[in-house]
Amino acid sequence: TASASRSYKITVLPGDGIGPEIMSVALDVMRSIGSQEGISFHFTTKLVGGAAIDAAGTPLPEETLVACKDSDAVLLAAIGGYKWDNNEPHLRPERGLLGLRAGLGVFANLRPATVFSQLVESSTLKREVAEGVDVMVVRELTGGIYFGEPKGFGTNKNGDRTGFNTEVYSATEIDRIARVGFETARKRTGKLCSVDKANVLEASQFWRERVIEIAKEYPDVELSHMYVDNAAMQLIRNPKQFDTIVTNNIFGDILSDEASMLTGSIGMLPSASIGQSGPGLFEPVHGSAPDIAGQNKANPLAQILSVAMLLKYGLGEKKAAERIEAAVLATLDRGFRTGDIVSEGKTLVGCKQMGEEVMRALQAPV
Ligand code: ATP
Ligand code: MG
Repeated sequence: TASASRSYKITVLPGDGIGPEIMSVALDVMRSIGSQEGISFHFTTKLVGGAAIDAAGTPLPEETLVACKDSDAVLLAAIGGYKWDNNEPHLRPERGLLGLRAGLGVFANLRPATVFSQLVESSTLKREVAEGVDVMVVRELTGGIYFGEPKGFGTNKNGDRTGFNTEVYSATEIDRIARVGFETARKRTGKLCSVDKANVLEASQFWRERVIEIAKEYPDVELSHMYVDNAAMQLIRNPKQFDTIVTNNIFGDILSDEASMLTGSIGMLPSASIGQSGPGLFEPVHGSAPDIAGQNKANPLAQILSVAMLLKYGLGEKKAAERIEAAVLATLDRGFRTGDIVSEGKTLVGCKQMGEEVMRALQAPV
C-alpha cells in the first residue's frame, strides 16, 4: 500500500529542564498517531544544550548535528538552565541552538499565536477581541540587521563615539522568505500581510518590491502591506484581521513575541524553523522552565503541537497533524488543565496525565 512507504527518520533532542518530560509525552503521541495513520517513525535521540555540555563538553556535539542533517525532521524540546547561566559564551546552552539553526540552514521561523476558545480567559485581551485569534508570524531568521555588515563601534566626525548595525537583504533572501510566507498563507486562510517600514527604510522598500514580485506566483493568496508600527498596534487592537504575517528578522522577533503574549498561554505555543530543503526544526516557544523541571508539572501541549507542526510543515502529513490538533482541543474541552492554564472548575493534571488524555482523545472514534 502507499502508506507502507511513509517512513521518516526523526532526530529527537530532549535538551534540558522540562525538556525530557514533555518530549517523552510528545513521542508517545507521535507513535500513537503513526500507528493509526500508517506512518512509521524512526527516532534517534541526541544530546544538545546543557545536557551536551555536561556529557560531551560542547552544547552541540558533531554527532548531534550529523544526525539532525541526516533526518527528515528534528524535534527539539528546550535547552538551558541556571546551572550553565554563568558559563563562558562558547559553553552556553543557547549556542547549541544557534549552531543547530545555522547547521540546518533554516531561514524561516513560523510561530502561531492561537487563542484557544477554552483558554480565552488567559488572554491579555478582552474576550470579544481575543476570541478566534489565530495569527501565524513568519519571521526571516538568518539575515537583516542582526547579521548585516558593517557593524560595530566607531567615532563620528565630531569625535563622538558611535555604535552601528546594518539592515541589508538580498533579493534571494527576500524571495525565499516571501515564498514561505505565501506557501504558509496558502495552507491556512490564504491571507498574507507583509510587514515593513517602507516609508523610512530603503531595505524595507526593497523588501516590499520583492514581495510584490513574488506575489505574481501566488494569485490565489490575498496580499496586503502594513508598516511595523501600525502592525504592532493592530495586533492588540484587532488581531483577528491577520492570518499570516511575513516580516524581516528584527520586526519578526518583536511581533512574534507580542503576538504570543496575546494568547496568555506560553505552554501552548509551538514553532517551526524551516529552510529551502533539508529537515526543519520544531520546538515549543517556551524555554526549559527549570523552576518546575522534574516535577511532572509541565504543560506538554506546546511540545505536542510542535509534533503537529512537524507533521504539517516538515513532512506534509496534514491529516495526522490536524488529528493531533483536534485531540488537543478535545482534551481542553474535557476540562483537563496543567498548572499553568488551570482555572476554577477544571481538572488539574500533571504532564504525564495530560499526555495520556491527548492519547485517549486520539483513539476516540471520529
Ligand atoms: P528562554 O529559555 O526561552 O529564555 P525563559 O527562561 O524566559 O525562556 P521559560 O523557561 O519559558 O522562560 O519559563 C518562563 C515561565 O513560564 C516559568 O515560570 C516556567 O515555569 C513557565 N513555563 C514555561 N514553559 C512551561 C510549560 N510548558 N508548562 C508550564 N509552565 C511553563
Ligand atoms: Mg529559560
